Amino acid sequence: MTKSFMPTIKTEKELKDLQLNGLKWTVNHAYQGSDFYRKRFDETNVKPDDIHSLDDIKRLPFTTAQDLQDGYPFPLRSVPFKDIVRIHASSGTTGKRKVLCYTQKDIDDWGDFFARCYEMAGLTEEDRVQIAVGYGVWTAGVGFQLGCEKFGAMAIPAGPGNIDMQCTFLIDFQPTVFCCTASMGLLMAEEVEKRNIRDKIHLKKVIFGSERSSEAMRKRIIELLGVEHVFDIPGMTELYGPGTGLDCVYHEGIHYWADYYILEILDPETLEEIKQGEVGEMVVTTLRKEGAPLIRYRTRDLTRIIPKGCSCGSLLPMHDALLGRSDDMFIIRGVNIYPSQVDTIVSQMPGAGSEYQIILDRKQDGKDYMSVKVERANGADPSEDEELKRKLEDEIKKKILVSGAVTIVDYGGLPRSERKSKRVFDNRDK
Ligand code: ZN
Repeated sequence: MTKSFMPTIKTEKELKDLQLNGLKWTVNHAYQGSDFYRKRFDETNVKPDDIHSLDDIKRLPFTTAQDLQDGYPFPLRSVPFKDIVRIHASSGTTGKRKVLCYTQKDIDDWGDFFARCYEMAGLTEEDRVQIAVGYGVWTAGVGFQLGCEKFGAMAIPAGPGNIDMQCTFLIDFQPTVFCCTASMGLLMAEEVEKRNIRDKIHLKKVIFGSERSSEAMRKRIIELLGVEHVFDIPGMTELYGPGTGLDCVYHEGIHYWADYYILEILDPETLEEIKQGEVGEMVVTTLRKEGAPLIRYRTRDLTRIIPKGCSCGSLLPMHDALLGRSDDMFIIRGVNIYPSQVDTIVSQMPGAGSEYQIILDRKQDGKDYMSVKVERANGADPSEDEELKRKLEDEIKKKILVSGAVTIVDYGGLPRSERKSKRVFDNRDK
């Protein structure tokens, strides 16, 4: 390897110093360059000179998705237009698209830390990377491509969909790495099995971007494609794009690039710091982003810090897989519950399918009750339903600390959706 993209810092102290310098620079840069930030800071009575320690981040105001929409078309812009070399936008399912401005340095930084993803995943310049994610105004394809070229592997910019073409490329170009969303990964793996072409392809690694993959899904893909590793790359347009972290070959958590951004995990209700290791909302502050810096940006994504070092020995800290959106959280009997907690229990239970529904009711006694419908796995024996029901109820009680009555339904008995399926049905107060 000619060049490494790992951080050059060697100690926790050096990392903290780098973060403090980056924080000071960012606050100053945003205050000088952006009308939005200057106004927001003045309203909350903070000045760039007030930042003396990392702890002072708590004095800074939050930034939200709403701020990006309000500032459309060039929100958070902190440099003159002459310095902007590119924009990207989120796909914009609700309301206006989120648009972010990039300077050349931003693009270079993004390429560098995306190259780090490939390095951490153990690729070499000999690897060939089939990139089957979307190319266009959004960040996916461009990001995977930029990092791949910077790293020095061979990029095959296939784009998403088009299964026939993907299979042809797998055979003809012999890629060793396949980048896609988790659902596309499963689709490809099943297609490779169906076409019986596994001995004609040479994949060793699969990298997922943008979509949470369940353990069951990863296992199935590893089994069908015969690959060594499946990696998760998180990322969002607001924070450059994909490539802001990766679970290394030990898969003990997702290393995140603490030398490019500060990650706070806060209680989504109170916005106060929570105990380390507990689930909360990811709030990010960039350390070197010029075009559209983020200051305490509320991502709405939920995860937790993994409070230990990784077996790989990297200095870069880890967060857990994304556990869903804070908007999806519901409260029952005083306990905060995320659908993904039920998801995890169901997907780890032998005999259960991947589909489930959570139903919340308030009964005559005035108390709230949770019940869960779970599909039996394809081919599982219905005579074992009682046993499966009991095991699931025990796990729910143990892991979520709330009782939930489980009903087992036939495989295929719950509705399917091409997009995100509705999981929670809250019938309380209606
Ligand atoms: Zn590691």
